[in-house]
Amino acid sequence: MKVITVKCLNDNFSYIVLNEENNYACVIDPSEAKPIINIVKQEKINLKYILNTHHHHDHVGGNLELKKMFDCKVLGFINDKNNIPGIDIFLKDKEQFQNKGFEFTTYHTPGHTLGHVIFHFHNQNLLFTGDTLFSLGCGRIFEGSYNQMFESLRLIKNFSQDTLIYFGHEYTFQNSKFCIYHDSNNKKLKVKIPKILEKLKNNLSTTPTNLKDELDCNIFLRCKDLNSFSKLRELKDNF
Ligand code: ZN
Ligand code: FE
Repeated sequence: MKVITVKCLNDNFSYIVLNEENNYACVIDPSEAKPIINIVKQEKINLKYILNTHHHHDHVGGNLELKKMFDCKVLGFINDKNNIPGIDIFLKDKEQFQNKGFEFTTYHTPGHTLGHVIFHFHNQNLLFTGDTLFSLGCGRIFEGSYNQMFESLRLIKNFSQDTLIYFGHEYTFQNSKFCIYHDSNNKKLKVKIPKILEKLKNNLSTTPTNLKDELDCNIFLRCKDLNSFSKLRELKDNF
């Protein structure tokens, strides 16, 4: 299984998960169709599934065009069935999906939106977190409550530390400024920031990250209670 990161729009990441044994693939959060089509054609991939973490346009924008072109199925959270364009298969919380060599579990992580989900490919230990968790940040709370987001992040914290985290936006450098501002003695963060800058300077993406790094450096995973989380999330909105 191989993950291809596809940069979309200004700062979005879509991901193609390719099963190299049968050349079948899923795409996660296709913001737009064109960059996905290019890779599918180039690599002669057989695109079978579209997985959406949530209904925002920058995550589902390519659904209909891709579905039409490749006849693939759209998978999304059952509660979002009226919001996700072209949805065919309704996923439930903690449900395991298994087909065409792909195996993943869906987890409901409300906060950014009420129907946000993340996908865990347990055999490879890959976690696609959409706009719930970013490297050194977390999603803005649009539809849910602070408590929901705090609980959703707590769920992610319980995955194994070597979990690879594929997130929805390249916000890492901006996020790092907020983290260091409020956590200025964090030695591991001080080591991580120059590595982020180095990648960006070389036109590389900062995705994926891993859970251990995030537990050490991401201030939203480090705060201990709902109160401090809510305060930080509010501060970040105006940072
Ligand atoms: Zn979003
Ligand atoms: Fe987004």
